[in-house]
Amino acid sequence: MDCNSVYVFYFFFFLMISNWNCIYFQLCGYICIACLGCPGKLIFDVVVRSEIGTYYALDLGGTNFRVLRIQLGGRRSSILSQDVERQPIPQHLMTSTSEDLFDFIASTLKQFVEKEESGSEPSPVRTRELGFTFSFPVKQSSLRSGILIKWTKGFAIEDMVGKEVVELLEAAMIRSGLDMRAALLVNDTVGTLALGRYHDADTVAAVIIGTGTNACYLERADAVIKCQGLLTTSGYMVVNMEWGNFWSSHLPRTSYDIDLDSESPNPNDQGFEKMISGMYLGDIVRRVILRISLESDIFGPVSSRLSIPFILQTPLVAAMHEDDSPELKEVAKILKENLGISEVSLKVRKLAVRICDVVTRRAARLAAAGIVGILKKIGRDGSGGTAGGRSKSDVKMRRTVVAIEGGLYTSYAMFRQYLHGALSEILGEDVAQHVVLQVTEDGSGIGGALLAASYSSIP
Ligand code: ADP
Repeated sequence: MDCNSVYVFYFFFFLMISNWNCIYFQLCGYICIACLGCPGKLIFDVVVRSEIGTYYALDLGGTNFRVLRIQLGGRRSSILSQDVERQPIPQHLMTSTSEDLFDFIASTLKQFVEKEESGSEPSPVRTRELGFTFSFPVKQSSLRSGILIKWTKGFAIEDMVGKEVVELLEAAMIRSGLDMRAALLVNDTVGTLALGRYHDADTVAAVIIGTGTNACYLERADAVIKCQGLLTTSGYMVVNMEWGNFWSSHLPRTSYDIDLDSESPNPNDQGFEKMISGMYLGDIVRRVILRISLESDIFGPVSSRLSIPFILQTPLVAAMHEDDSPELKEVAKILKENLGISEVSLKVRKLAVRICDVVTRRAARLAAAGIVGILKKIGRDGSGGTAGGRSKSDVKMRRTVVAIEGGLYTSYAMFRQYLHGALSEILGEDVAQHVVLQVTEDGSGIGGALLAASYSSIP
C-alpha cells in the first residue's frame, strides 16, 4: 500500500469528527438520563463553609494516588497551607485484592501523616478527618457510603466490586494503626468542582481529562427528577455524569476503537473515555501504525514491539506531535526506541506526526462537545432560547467557569489548543469568550479535603 492509500485510514477518523456536532446534543440527552435515575450518579448538595483546622484527603483514581493535607484559616478562600504527595500505584496492586491495595494506601497515608506532623506542635488529641476522592463508578447512598459498581482505567480487583469502599479504607487504616476517619466519599470531578467554587463562585462544572475522563455539573435541584422533594440548602445539586461511559449511535467507531475495546479488561464499557483519555490515545496511535505496517512497507519490516498493547504511552504521542525540530529527531527516536521502527525517512516521520495529530484532535473535539453539552443543559451555551428572532449574539451571556484537571489537558498543549478551538467553533467567539476553563491543580484531592472540612462531624 502506498502513502495515498494510507489516507483512507485518515478518512475514517475525519468521518468521525465531521459528525461530531450532533454529539453534544446527544450528551444533553445523556445528562437528562443521568439525572433521571442511572445508578451510580453521585448527587448531593455542596456547601463549602468557613472551616478552621487541618484536614486530609486521599485521591485514588488513576495511575497515581495522592495524599494531601490542607490547613484552613477560617475565612473563605483561605487555605493557609497545603501538602501533596503523589505515589504511582504498583501495577500488580491494580489487579490484586482490596486488602492489598488498601493496606498499601493506608501505610502510605500513615507515613505521610507522621512525616508532616513530626516536629510540629502536638495538636489536641482529635481523630483526623479525610475526604476520600475515589474516581470509579460508585452507587452512592449517603455522604460516606457507596459501593463500587465496576472498575475502569485498567483496575480489576474482583473482590471489591459491590463492596462499600469507605469501609474497606477504614478497615485498612485500623489495621495500620492510623487514627483517621473518612468524613465523606466523593469522586474527582466533585472534588474539583468544590475547589473551583471555593475560589470562584461562577464555577458551574468540572471536567477531568487525565488517565480517564469524567465530568460533573451543578444542576437546579428541582430539575433533578430522581430527587424531587429533597431539600437542599443551596437549591442546587451536583450531578456526577460518569460521561466516560457515554455512548451514542452518532459516535461512530473505527476498527481501532473496536479492537481496543474488545481487547480491554472492560469491553463495551467507557466508550467515550476510550476515545478521549490519556490511558488510550497512545494505544490508538500504536494500532494505526501497526495496521499500516502490516499492510504496507511504509514503516519498514513489521516490528514485533508494535504488537505489545500500551507500549506507546500518550506522553510519547505528545512528544512526537510537538516535535518542532526540522528533522523530527524526537519522532525518529521514539519510533526507534519505543516501537522498534528505525531508519525511516522524514516523509514517514511526518506521517507518524499526522497520525498523532488526527487521534489527538478527535479526542479534544469530543471532549469539547461534551463540555458544550453541559453548558447547553444548564442554559450557558448562549442560546438562551432563540425564539422571537433573537440571535445567539443578542443573548447576554454570564461568565461561566468550568474547573478542569487532568494530565492530558494540563500537559499536552496541542490537545488543549484543539479543545479550545472546538469550543469556540461550536459556541461561536461571542459566547466562547465568556466561558473560562480554569485549571485547578490537585483540585480533586484538595476539593475532597475541603468537603471533609465542610462535612466534618467532629466539633
Ligand atoms: P490520573 O488521571 O492518573 O489521576 P493525571 O491527571 O496526572 O493523573 O493524568 C495522568 C495522565 O495524563 C497520564 O496517564 C497520561 O495519559 C496523561 N499525560 C500526562 N502527561 C502527559 C503529557 N505530557 N502529554 C500527554 N498526556 C499526558
